[in-house]
Amino acid sequence: MNYQNTLAFATALDEQDELKDLKKLFLVPQNKGKDVIYFCGNSLGLQPVTAQQYVLDQFANWKNLGIEGFFEGDDPWLGYHKKLTGILANLLGAKKDEVTIMNSLTVNLHLLMVSFYKPTSKRYKIIMEGGAFPSDQYAFASQARFHGYDPKEAIIEIFPREGESILRTEDILKTINNHADDLALVLFGGVNYFTGQFYDIEAITKTAHKVGAFAGFDLAHAAGNVLLNLHDWDVDFAAWCSYKYMNSGPGGISGIFVNEKHFNNQSLNRFEGWWGYREDKRFLMTHDFEPEIGAAGWQLSTSPVMLLTLHKAALDIFQQAGGLEPLRAKSQLLTGYLEFLIEQINQNKGEDVLRIITPKNKDERGCQLSIVCKNNARKTFDFLTSHSVIGDWREPNVIRLSPVPLYNSFKQVFDVAGILAASLGEN
Ligand SMILES: *Cc1c(COP(=O)(O)O)cnc(C)c1O
Repeated sequence: MNYQNTLAFATALDEQDELKDLKKLFLVPQNKGKDVIYFCGNSLGLQPVTAQQYVLDQFANWKNLGIEGFFEGDDPWLGYHKKLTGILANLLGAKKDEVTIMNSLTVNLHLLMVSFYKPTSKRYKIIMEGGAFPSDQYAFASQARFHGYDPKEAIIEIFPREGESILRTEDILKTINNHADDLALVLFGGVNYFTGQFYDIEAITKTAHKVGAFAGFDLAHAAGNVLLNLHDWDVDFAAWCSYKYMNSGPGGISGIFVNEKHFNNQSLNRFEGWWGYREDKRFLMTHDFEPEIGAAGWQLSTSPVMLLTLHKAALDIFQQAGGLEPLRAKSQLLTGYLEFLIEQINQNKGEDVLRIITPKNKDERGCQLSIVCKNNARKTFDFLTSHSVIGDWREPNVIRLSPVPLYNSFKQVFDVAGILAASLGEN
């Protein structure tokens, strides 16, 4: 696409956009009576208009049906999560049985590590991205300690080369190969929260398997953002959260992927609970555990129905959009336009005042651009905020902006670039 730095061009792209009406399905925070420009879907997605009604419907069921709500009504609570797994499986490139909805992300990472981190005195190391989201660092280190290993020894973090911001796939694969003899698990991000880099999940998985390790992924910033093919890529397991690109509410319920080849893998440990027990026999309350077939066998507790309804409100919109493919196509155009306009600012200034550290290749990133401000970083961010642009700030000098195809427009991208330019003119 040959982008142009004009309002007319941005407006024309919006007019051609077949997904433009989807934004009406979301509630946008207000400032001085007007919608803000919300470029923060990487941290917390916006509220679907229907979310409140979905919850109210279940309040009514609870009121009218009491315990019978599990079995009666339009949406019986028992098995409610199954209404969502089909859509979710499509978003993740998984088979329906490979996906289930439960808990939240860090909890699920721990539970999946119970199954897939089985260290032995010879193979006990975990490879992860350097500078991963802190919760992942804490989770992996505490798992290593739980098994009696020193995290400093057991956990291998891969960092970008000196002077570079993003990881080279060749370096990731080389590190895996270098640990061919002592590696238990590669547990990587899908999209890095700080740089927005989308890793080559397929290549990482293949190399991990070649050396005899499991490959799992934290898809917090990938799910609902980029196209995934977890099943075909032969990923062993994955977890994500639903409140970022999946718009399912703060602390919303998340889910797991377990590759079908592990459904009957008796060598895997699993923490068990009654909600993972075969649904058709669950209420017989028998003694010995018989798991549900598929990822659902990893469930533990009664599903929180109110959270499931919020998740459904959000996933229904992905369904309405025709799945992730059209959204991804728009997303690449939107983010590409923001990148183009930022480069224009740099050209006008004669230097990279706004240095984008997210990969230039649009297939190696999602919605987000991470921008290092050369001067007056915090002032620039505050200027954006005071002009009703909601992005997010990462110390010491990075602004993350994530135009989201479900509810952001080309005109908003144009406006944000104009506000950035004005800010740099001032400071
Ligand atoms: C957002 C995020 C989390 C948050 O985990 P919760 O358990 O949902 O609080 C964890 N890991 C990554 C990579 C994230 O981006």
